[in-house]
Amino acid sequence: AFLDRIAQVDDAIGAYLHVGADAALAAAQRADAAIAAGEATSPLTGVPIALKDVFTTVDAPTTCGSKILEGWVPPYDATVTAKLRAAGLPILGKTNMDEFAMGSSTENSAYQVTRNPWDTERIPGGSGGGSAAALASHSAPLAIGTDTGGSIRQPAAVTATVGVKPTYGTVSRYGLVACASSLDQGGPCGRTVLDTALLHEVIAGHDPRDSTSIDAPVGDLAGAARLGAAGDLTGVRVGVVTELGGDGYQPGVLASFEAAVSTLTDRGAEVVEVSCPHFTYALGAYYLILPSEVSSNLARFDAMRYGLRVGDDGAHSADEVMALTREAGFGPEVKRRIMIGTYALSAGYYDAYYGQAQKVRTLIARDFATAFASVDVLVSPVTPTTAFKLGEKVDDPLAMYLFDLCTLPVNLAGVAAMSVPSGLSEGLPVGLQIMAPALADDRLYRVGAAYE
Ligand code: GLN
Repeated sequence: AFLDRIAQVDDAIGAYLHVGADAALAAAQRADAAIAAGEATSPLTGVPIALKDVFTTVDAPTTCGSKILEGWVPPYDATVTAKLRAAGLPILGKTNMDEFAMGSSTENSAYQVTRNPWDTERIPGGSGGGSAAALASHSAPLAIGTDTGGSIRQPAAVTATVGVKPTYGTVSRYGLVACASSLDQGGPCGRTVLDTALLHEVIAGHDPRDSTSIDAPVGDLAGAARLGAAGDLTGVRVGVVTELGGDGYQPGVLASFEAAVSTLTDRGAEVVEVSCPHFTYALGAYYLILPSEVSSNLARFDAMRYGLRVGDDGAHSADEVMALTREAGFGPEVKRRIMIGTYALSAGYYDAYYGQAQKVRTLIARDFATAFASVDVLVSPVTPTTAFKLGEKVDDPLAMYLFDLCTLPVNLAGVAAMSVPSGLSEGLPVGLQIMAPALADDRLYRVGAAYE
């Protein structure tokens, strides 16, 4: 049914870069057989899923939305891919994304535009716009994204779907092609909070093949969602972040946020205002730390090991082949970030830029720690406005970066957060962001399900 739906709607939406119909049907048949034999390994056995094209898959190309990896079929499955297969979730295909997960609108994909199913003249969010658009167009019931600075939560917010950025280190990065390693985290996307919790349980867990993987239980996430669904938040302390709101936010977004806060109060939560003074500097710190890591991580695309190779005609040196390939294979945003990062890390500037940004990162983590000493979760809008028009910000990188204002602090601190649908503003979806301490992801599901 989902493959039919993709055939019907995806020409207009552009959520998928690759559809693996045969593999998905074969996996669905294996899942049916397992269910019939009483051997299903998960409550999601047989439920199809869309996978962001940044996770390696042995049976499908993995491009990361980049020409430099066009046609590359990896020799191994990512841990997340392997866990989905082991739990019996048929993989429908690979979804579109901003090149190497850099962007906020999916317009930085080298391959195609993805449209927001709510208004096809608007962006589906980014970098994981393909996964969110697949959910919102009903061409997948579940999806996987990655969130380095908001790429799960922000597309969820603008498409009225649910997206969770798990605690850093709880979902393996093995086989997740790196953007910024200290920030990247895979996570679940769904149409409801409970679906998302069930998927989160499938993909989480310690992995010795990821050196930053945490060996700690993630908790009973589906149980927390079921508890929350009863709608009672008595005893839960909710902090409204003073710094995330006010001037520059669309009035409809602020109105939706205020209504969400009063819903939480109605459900019995105790709501207080909490100041996180260093969140104001998150954007500046993130856009130094991320490009620094990118400039180092993307050095591996050297024309020798993967995908594209340009100028290999005997007339060029290895260095020239590398330069020609990177010139042709990377898009403008990726090049911009490699240059910013290379500059920020260079001798003489390191302390002034990267070093300062790391200090700000620590202060942001301390703001979270101080806040979580007095509240269980923090809340804010996910984005300052609803989905903007395709093309509106492509030529203005700073305006594009500003769209990430509310989501970046979470990644810098490594804590957990969810975007849950919070109604419409002028006909377009708005998201509520819920943030929880590291390893307290269950609180997101309790509060999210109570709100939903
Ligand atoms: N929009 C942010 C960026 O461009 C976030 C990206 C992400 O989370 N992958 O860096």
